[in-house]
Amino acid sequence: MKNTFVCPHCQGVLNPNVKILLVAAAKRRKGMILLSPQPGNYKYICDSSLQDAFQEGKTITFSCPMCATDLTAEGNPKFAHLELHVTGHKPRQIEFSRVFGAHATFIVDGNDVTSFGDDAEDFDGTNFFGA
Ligand SMILES: [Zn+2]
Repeated sequence: MKNTFVCPHCQGVLNPNVKILLVAAAKRRKGMILLSPQPGNYKYICDSSLQDAFQEGKTITFSCPMCATDLTAEGNPKFAHLELHVTGHKPRQIEFSRVFGAHATFIVDGNDVTSFGDDAEDFDGTNFFGA
């Protein structure tokens, strides 16, 4: 069973191998970033000049490396939005915090919301998506 992360705008596959590849921008720097496909794992890989631009508590802008669309979640501007496609399942919505150092990820599967990360409880999961 393969988890495929997909851009909600162009439906392009964001994890051609294992890691999720996005474009990240902070301050005036921009670069490729690799994220773990495991929800709740906030390790990432990027080049050092981009790393230097990350600051605790500041938001990072993520965009799709294919269509360049800003992945900021509609209605939740502190979060970025991806889709997760798993064979035999309806697409799930993934939202993760854009604030550097804030560890919160939500996976929405129909009416079910699953949260991951130390800071997820700071957000009200039930009202979070206005569902
Ligand atoms: Zn895209």
